[in-house]
Amino acid sequence: MTARIIDGTDIAAGLSQAVADAVKHVTEDHRIEPGLAVVLVGDNPASEIYVRSKTAKTAAVNMRSLFYRLPVAVPEDELLEQIERLNQDATVHGILVQLPLPPQIDSRKVIEAIIPLKDVDGFHPLTAGLLSTGLPGIVPCTPLACIMLAKKVHGSLAGLEAVVIGRSNIVGKPLAQLLLMENATVTIAHSKTRDLPEVCRRGDIVFAAVGRAEMVRGDWIKPGATVIDVGINRVSAGQGKTKIVGDVAYTQVAEIAGAITPVPGGVGPMTIACLMLNTLKAACMQNGLPPPNVGA
Ligand code: NDP
Repeated sequence: MTARIIDGTDIAAGLSQAVADAVKHVTEDHRIEPGLAVVLVGDNPASEIYVRSKTAKTAAVNMRSLFYRLPVAVPEDELLEQIERLNQDATVHGILVQLPLPPQIDSRKVIEAIIPLKDVDGFHPLTAGLLSTGLPGIVPCTPLACIMLAKKVHGSLAGLEAVVIGRSNIVGKPLAQLLLMENATVTIAHSKTRDLPEVCRRGDIVFAAVGRAEMVRGDWIKPGATVIDVGINRVSAGQGKTKIVGDVAYTQVAEIAGAITPVPGGVGPMTIACLMLNTLKAACMQNGLPPPNVGA
């Protein structure tokens, strides 16, 4: 069997177009121009790339893009003051502080400083609480992207066995919550899980969010299962060059799976499109408008 490739770039383009159309309506009908502020501390090359693509996409979907660069040695209280200014600015609907942050800054304090209504990354503990209790709110971008991609293959996820490898607060845990809301039967695996290959073989859908290059092997996958690869790992490509691979051994898994996301070109572009959707959603929530009917 050769798996169907789930083209995240193409699906993300469709979602971005829908967001752009909805932004146009909100701007024309309600005079609200959704705005996303991105804050970058320092000059980490990977973060630079992520931030550049986020700000470019913001403008491409007709939203206001604001970018703040702070020096790598910026004291924590200066960053918190910047966040507070953005919290108070009514023209800013979403705030994103690019992680990781330098060691003098407590990431948890920064995440908690962003008011939940503008928390478009969905990392604030209150946002996590809303999600885990099934209340409406912002849904973290990467887990949301994973669900949308899985639904492209299966339609409904109800009754499916879903295995999530990874239990981080930003991917694994919220993804498991979303899968429960979709009525999947969920197993969360992590570094202490016994016999991970056997656990994975239960999955009608396997989500890999580990951060270990090509860890998930072909014989871990039930024939015909769907595999969603969240991992972004930079590895050597020989001759001093590097390349990006996922957490899944793509070539061998694609021989067994029914459908698979590539890396790059799978979850990554969908995550950015979901960030745009979240910013639009935040702008609607802050202005008493119903949530946009996009990406459902
Ligand atoms: P974390 O490092 O926060 O979490 C990794 C998780 O994997 C932990 O729960 C850890 O278990 C588990 N784990 C580590 N080693 C093993 C192992 N050998 N077997 C089983 N489980 C293991 O990572 P993130 O959740 O932040 O990110 C995961 C991956 O997704 C990374 O590659 C990251 O770059 C990528 N990513 C991609 C995004 C995108 O847009 N495509 C967005 C965000 C992340 P334990 O809890 O026991 O330590």
